[in-house]
Amino acid sequence: MNTEDLIKDFNKKFESRLSTYLTKKDIRRIDNFLKNQIGKYIQDIEQLQKELFNYKKTKKARFIDLSTKEYHRSFIACAIGAKYKNVGTFGTTVGHISNFNNYLPLYRMLLKLGEIGKKSSLKEKNGRRNTVGRCAEVKASYSLFNKDKSTNFSQIEFTNAYRPRTLQIIERCNNCKSVFGNV
Ligand SMILES: [Zn+2]
Repeated sequence: MNTEDLIKDFNKKFESRLSTYLTKKDIRRIDNFLKNQIGKYIQDIEQLQKELFNYKKTKKARFIDLSTKEYHRSFIACAIGAKYKNVGTFGTTVGHISNFNNYLPLYRMLLKLGEIGKKSSLKEKNGRRNTVGRCAEVKASYSLFNKDKSTNFSQIEFTNAYRPRTLQIIERCNNCKSVFGNV
């Protein structure tokens, strides 16, 4: 397996651990669970980095530094937890939702920003435009809806949004502020 495939594997493992979570408790617990899973994700990455370093010493291969920009895009950009009534779920920026119009109220809200999968009409602070429908918040909301069809997206409680590679807290983007409210 090459390094990119190993990272993809960590991403999948991380997502599948999140999907097994069955919570009916408060949002802080969901946040703690997410942070624990991120801790494991970081450990996996650190372990891989050590192995790559040892490999370099024995085989004189090019040293692969996972902290360089080259690899940033391979890691999950953002993960978040969400809760509505008695259901808790998670979402990440990986992958896409296949059937957006199955959750019409949220779908219509997203369409106000632009076409799904295309750049939003709203600019971010850095001047860039995020892709409509790609955010972790949207994925977590769809997961909630799939478990409870009464989910009202404007009343979803969210955890902090984290960058899993570093556990850095990510500020809500302008797309998500317009859909889910300012935090
Ligand atoms: Zn967003």
